[in-house]
Amino acid sequence: MVTKQTSCKQCGVCCIKGGATLHSVDIALLNNGLVPRKDLVTIRKGEFAYNPVTNCVQATKAEIVKLRGTGKEWICCYYDPKAQGCTIYDNRPMACGVLKCWDPEGSLALVERDLLSRCEIVSQDKKLNDLVTEYDLACPLPDCAKLTAKLLENSEEMIVKLEDAVNCDLQFRNRVVAKSIQILEEEMFLFGRPLFQLLQPFGLLVMQSGNRLILRKTDLVKVKRPMIQ
Ligand code: SF4
Ligand code: SF4
Repeated sequence: MVTKQTSCKQCGVCCIKGGATLHSVDIALLNNGLVPRKDLVTIRKGEFAYNPVTNCVQATKAEIVKLRGTGKEWICCYYDPKAQGCTIYDNRPMACGVLKCWDPEGSLALVERDLLSRCEIVSQDKKLNDLVTEYDLACPLPDCAKLTAKLLENSEEMIVKLEDAVNCDLQFRNRVVAKSIQILEEEMFLFGRPLFQLLQPFGLLVMQSGNRLILRKTDLVKVKRPMIQ
C-alpha cells in the first residue's frame, strides 16, 4: 500500500527546481544582510515565466524577485547538493517554509501576492532606485503575450524592432556595469536577464555581428518553460 506523504522528506527537489520568490516579509533578510542582492534575479512584469497556479508559462502580472539559480537546472544558489540541504535554512525566505510539496495549497496562495519589488529593496539607496527606473524607461520589455502573433504577422519589421531593443538593452547594461563592480555583481537583480536571452524561447536565434547583436528567425516555437520558474 502506498502511504500518503504527510511531512517533508528533505529530498531537496523543490530547491533543485529553482530559488524561492521573495515576499514583503522577506525584506528583513535583505536589510540584515542575510541575503545579498547579488544572489537575486528579477523577472520583470510582463516577462514570461512558469505560473504554478495555471500550470502554464505566461506573462507575469507583477514583478518577481527570486533567489538566483545556478547551473543549467537553475538550482537555488543556497542549495548544497553534497550536503543535500539549505545553507541558509534558519534564514530562508518565507515561501520556503510554507512549501509542502504534498499539499501545495499554501504555496499556490502566495503566487503573485505580496511580492517584494526591486524598488522596495533599494528604497534606501536613491542612486540605485533611480538606476532601476532609468533602465525600465530606457529598455521596456516588448509585449511578450503578443510577440508570437506579431512575429508571425510581420516578422521582418518585428525583428528589426527587437534587434534595436536587444542592443539598447545590452548597451545600457555595458555602460553602467563598466562604472561599478557593485552594479556588475547585482546586474541580474537590478535589470533581470538580458532581453536577448528572453527572446530565445520565441524562436529567435541571437548572433553577434561586429559589436551588434542580430536576430534570426528559426521555426517559431511555442514558448517553452524557461529555466526560471
Ligand atoms: S517539500 Fe517536498 S520536494 Fe521539498 S524537500 Fe520537502 S519533500 Fe522534498
Ligand atoms: S533558500 Fe534554501 S530552502 Fe529555499 S529554495 Fe533555496 S535552498 Fe531551498
